[in-house]
Amino acid sequence: MFDFIMTEEQKKLRDEVRAFTKWVPRELILDMDAEKIQFPHEYLKEAGRRNLLGTRIPKKYGGRGLKWVDAGIVGEEIGVASYSLACLHGVGADLVCDAIVNFGSEELKQEIVVPLMKGEIYAAEGLTEPRGGSDFFGTTTQAVKDGDDWVLNGQKRFVVGAEGADWFLIYALTDPDAPPHKRLTAFMVPRTAGVESKYIYGLMGVRGGGAGRVLLEDVRIPERYALNGIHGGFNVFLNMMIPERLGTSDMTVGAVRPALEIATRYTSKRKAFGQAIRNFQAVGFKVADSAMQLDSMRSMVYSTCLAVDSGQVSAGKIRRMVSQTKKFTSEAAWEIANNCMQVLGGIGYTDVFPIERILRDIRLSMIWVGSNEIMQSIVQTEWYKEYKEIMADDSIRDVEQDALNSDEVDEKVYE
Ligand SMILES: Cc1cc2nc3c(=O)[nH]c(=O)nc-3n(C[C@H](O)[C@H](O)[C@H](O)COP(=O)(O)OP(=O)(O)OC[C@H]3O[C@@H](n4cnc5c(N)ncnc54)[C@H](O)[C@@H]3O)c2cc1C
Repeated sequence: MFDFIMTEEQKKLRDEVRAFTKWVPRELILDMDAEKIQFPHEYLKEAGRRNLLGTRIPKKYGGRGLKWVDAGIVGEEIGVASYSLACLHGVGADLVCDAIVNFGSEELKQEIVVPLMKGEIYAAEGLTEPRGGSDFFGTTTQAVKDGDDWVLNGQKRFVVGAEGADWFLIYALTDPDAPPHKRLTAFMVPRTAGVESKYIYGLMGVRGGGAGRVLLEDVRIPERYALNGIHGGFNVFLNMMIPERLGTSDMTVGAVRPALEIATRYTSKRKAFGQAIRNFQAVGFKVADSAMQLDSMRSMVYSTCLAVDSGQVSAGKIRRMVSQTKKFTSEAAWEIANNCMQVLGGIGYTDVFPIERILRDIRLSMIWVGSNEIMQSIVQTEWYKEYKEIMADDSIRDVEQDALNSDEVDEKVYE
């Protein structure tokens, strides 16, 4: 995040996270990428020990009780060491705990949020199913009431922490005949009888986070494990999409930042045709464009964080801002990583420099937490809704009337 807009407190927080990021053992990053480690419990324990889990979670449950802008600062610095670690840092503490704090009972907050903030346990999110992730309302995992309990059957796919999590936030169909937004429930499901991690995926990047398939077979859980009550899953989902997508955006800024730093250093030292390659515009402009894009990513993350923190912006506009921030940051990061690899030449394509890992890792940002196509469609829907309000606002100049022949109404044919 930009130093010049940070308070002294925020700078201290950033430095605390930087110290944690420096602590991360190099072997952990390499072993996760080599899939020698399936779940880095030690990393989460250390984050918990330093009270660096749950930036926005209230202090009484062990978090920092701060705002989105602070979470943006933390997310960027956490992303620097490893995208996979950043993902694990966010899913349990910032997504699942956020949902429990907002929609769970006090009992659940004590049972899950408090130990998770200490890094003692981990909670994963199971939304995506083998039949598809984009179509949330098409969820087929089912929960059927039996006495005072609910019995779950189904499967979830690509769950980060399928290996390693103690709890899963599972969306299940509880009223198949109801309209889409009333048919689903978000349950907190412990790793109990009937819960099985089936298949750990071989991933292009973001490795070592135990991403796998979770099978649920006659899993019996009490009704008190439902967040926001039975059939209340839609609002949990809507709320979770803010930390999912804004959290992805801030950690993506941090994850790609080292690529720019490495490329800047390399192009200043590397010589060709008797001079440093940064002097060739084709090289220097790629680095310059990357710096511009990184700052643009930050600006977007920061303004969206401010919008959420303000509490003054409509839910629809927040949806648009969060979605466009996720789409923009993921695409900019991909371009930065590619440009930074390019200016290193052949050595950039090897594991002598970590740019190839960064590139593999951040490619995921365009797919997960809602693909960029889905982000685009949300932006489209919300923008056209906003546009109606903008058009109805008399205080805005209607520039359409400023064309020489704007009064030629017969030429303005729409059908
Ligand atoms: C490494 C990894 C970790 C993940 N972690 C988690 C996790 O922890 N928890 C979890 O629940 N999920 C997780 N996911 C799942 C991820 O969020 C989904 O993969 C993603 O939402 C896309 O869903 P899908 O793969 O089923 O693709 P599909 O929904 O089948 O989509 C396939 C393609 O069709 C496009 N498409 C679909 N519908 C539309 C539409 N209406 N308009 C335009 N285009 C459309 C999509 O954009 C995409 O390009 C993870 C995925 C990966 C790879």
